[in-house]
This record gives sequence, structure tokens and C-alpha cells, in this order.
Amino acid sequence: MSEEKTKATDALLYQKKSFYEVFAANSEEVTAAYDYAKGYMAYMDASKTEREAVVASIALAEAQGYRAWKLGEPLTAGDRVYYNNRGKNLFLIAVGTEDINNGIRFVASHIDAPRLDLKPCPVYEDHGMGFLKTHYYGGIRKYQWVTVPLALHGVVVKADGTVVNVVVGEDDSDPVFYINDLLPHLGRADESKPLGAAIPGEKLNILVGSMPLTEEGEDKPEADGVKRNVLKLLNDKYGINEEDFISAELSLVPSAKARDVGFDRSMIGAYGHDDRVCSYPALTALFESNDTKHTCMAILADKEETGSDGVTGMQCELVLDLIDALADALGGRSSIIRANSKCLSADVTANYDPNFPDVFEIRNAAIINCGISLAKYTGSGGKGGTNDASAEFVGWIRSVLKDAGVVWQIAELGRVDAGGGGTVAKFLSKHNIDTIDIGVGVTSMHAPYEVIAKADLYEAHRAFKAFYLA
Ligand code: MN
Ligand code: MN
Repeated sequence: MSEEKTKATDALLYQKKSFYEVFAANSEEVTAAYDYAKGYMAYMDASKTEREAVVASIALAEAQGYRAWKLGEPLTAGDRVYYNNRGKNLFLIAVGTEDINNGIRFVASHIDAPRLDLKPCPVYEDHGMGFLKTHYYGGIRKYQWVTVPLALHGVVVKADGTVVNVVVGEDDSDPVFYINDLLPHLGRADESKPLGAAIPGEKLNILVGSMPLTEEGEDKPEADGVKRNVLKLLNDKYGINEEDFISAELSLVPSAKARDVGFDRSMIGAYGHDDRVCSYPALTALFESNDTKHTCMAILADKEETGSDGVTGMQCELVLDLIDALADALGGRSSIIRANSKCLSADVTANYDPNFPDVFEIRNAAIINCGISLAKYTGSGGKGGTNDASAEFVGWIRSVLKDAGVVWQIAELGRVDAGGGGTVAKFLSKHNIDTIDIGVGVTSMHAPYEVIAKADLYEAHRAFKAFYLA
């Protein structure tokens, strides 16, 4: 074949391109991507729970002129508002100048992440060690959570209704918490266990103390002295008692901060990239899209990791109420708005991992640094539980990304029948809103410390901006 013929057929091939093939290492784009990552890392360190992510996101939004808004209050074209749903789920709304019946541009991500929640009666003592019982939240590989430093985050609502905020284990001077594991010397029987059976859920008990409460003049500690001492320390600091744990939302998360990963600093390690790595770009892209005539909404959802149920999850009808409010305020109709709306379900996918090639199908896997990953469908088995965007909608978003010069790739989560997963996509599309999954590739998803690439993060920002503006 002549060289010319080879070139002609080259154009027929779909080939993923790395961000670093598109942009040279010393280019403005690479510098911009690495600068952008700094803001993201600060956001991550401030956002270890959905509540903290809401606070951090509101701070960013208010700095951009967004103000708090409630159902029933007026709205007009040009307004920049946010709706804070119970401190755990946030909607940012940029009211556009065009007819609201032309639809809304949604970018829906989630700000909850897998972790260990405290049980309602968590405190106990056994042979001199004080512990807190946990109930894991979301899909975790339990063996990954033992013997790593953990921090306690959350709120306690006292009997009088006062809300106490708790963060212990993040400051360098703070203590951290810990889950025991077996020493290898005594682990012979465990060696042959399947991974999933090695650490059962009821072994995820948090070590929180070992010093019994003693009083002067007493020759030996009281029964349950360690537990009593833990409760006394908590009472001294927060004014809470054991019963107050019943009305608390306290979670153990890894105490590690976001850090550059690799000699080249091209990656970021952090807790909870899934899915704050899409939430942060959903916000920054919105802030840079003031030129759009469309009404845009960035959704930061809660409860995605447990099925999107509850009043702060994407299955709650609040999103319909917000569309109704926009329709009422701007003279539109909800059914028409929804029919003309477009939604990016912005959630992470799995990066191809050379250490575990068997669960991926390389021709359809997300490759690190090849940009944001578009997923036509998710689900498991025979596409069970999937949104499956139409070819027409995939075609539209493909041209939007191409026109904006975004580095992007098509990807499936993994090999057929290797497992699967879902996103909030199906909870938006059930309202007659065209929806497609798109997100950043993650390495070691749902682990206490996950890894993403700075290039893919930056392309998420650019992709969402292109979508709001298109
Ligand atoms: Mn996710
Ligand atoms: Mn997840």
C-alpha cells in the first residue's frame, strides 16, 4: 500500500488520544490543567462528607455572586441562586435569558462517598479497648479500611435540638482513629479466605481509647472505665451523652489529604474522588458559562452510593419541584421544559488498570489521560438498570465536545459480566430528560485513597463548560 493510501485509511480509524499527545508538556493547556488541580485539591480537603461539600460549594458559589433561594421566592432571568436541600444536596441554578421552555442544561453529580457510619449505639469496651461500632455506607472492599488512619466527621443533634459539628483527625495535632487487623504471625487460617470474607462488616470497629476513667482515692477503675472515659471526653468537648449518638450522623473517613501522585505529579490521590471529581468541575464550568443563554443547573446529589433514595437522593421529586418553580416564575410548562432539557450524569468510571487486565475490555475501557469518558450506558449483566442514551443524543454531545476541542473518550465500566454499576442517569431520564453518563476515570474506585489524572479532571471542566455553552 502506498503511503498516501495508508494516510487516507488512517482517517477512518477511531483512535483515543492522550491529553499529552494533543497538548505538549510545556504548553499553556498543561499548565492550566495543573493549576486547576490545586483548586480541586483544596476543595477535596474541605469536602470529606456531603455536608462539608455543600458548605465548600456554597462558599465557591457565593464568591461568584450566587445567593440562597427557597421554593416560593421569585426568580427572574439572569438570577444566580442555589437551593440547599437539608445541608446534604445542593442545586445551583443560573437562570438563562432564553425561553425556559427551551429546556434546562443539567450537570448532575454526587457528593457522598463510601465510608463507615457510626451505629446509633456505637460505644463499647472490651478487655481494655474502647471501640465504636460502624455500619458501612456504599460499596467498599472492607479489607482496605483496616489499619489506616481515620478521621471522624459529622453532626450530633442534641436533645434540645442544638447541632454540634464534629471533625477530629484532620489537623496534624488531632488524634486519629483505627481499625485493628490480624498480625500475619496469627493469620494462617485467614490466608485461604476469599477477600470478601476476610474482614466481615461487624469487625469494622473503631479503636477510640484505652485509658479508663479513674477518680482520686479509688484503688481500681470502675467497670467500663474506658467507655466512661471516652463518653466523659466527648461530654467535656461537645456536651453530648451516649443517647445523643441516636440523633447523629458521624462517619469515619480516611484522614489523608489530597496529594500529588507520581514523580511527574500528573495524578492526584485523595479520598472521595468518586464523585467530587465531577462535582467540582460541574461548579467551575458553570461559573465560567455566564455567556450562555440557557438556564443551567448543577446538581450535587447525596445518597448515590446507597441507591439515590431518601429526600436528599436523586430519586426525590425535589428536582421536579425546582423545574415547576422555574416554569411558574418564567412562564413555562414543566412537561415542555423537561422534554427540551439535556442532562449530563457526571459520574466517574473505572480507568483501565494494567494490574487487573482481566476485568477490563481494552477496546472499550477508559484509559488514563485520554480525557473525560463518555458512557452510552452503564448497568450490569444485559445492560440491567441502565439509562442507555440514544444514538442521537450521543451524536449531539460528541459534536459539542469535538467543536470545543475537548479531549474525550468512549468507555464502558468493565468487561461484560465482570460486575457493573449505576449512576443517577436513570433518575433524571425517567422525567423525560435526555441524559448521558460522562465522567473522570478513577483508579482504585471506592478505596480509601483513590487516584485520578489531572488531565482528565481538567477535561471534565472543559467538557461541562462546552455543554453549558452549546
Ligand atoms: Mn459515583
Ligand atoms: Mn461510587
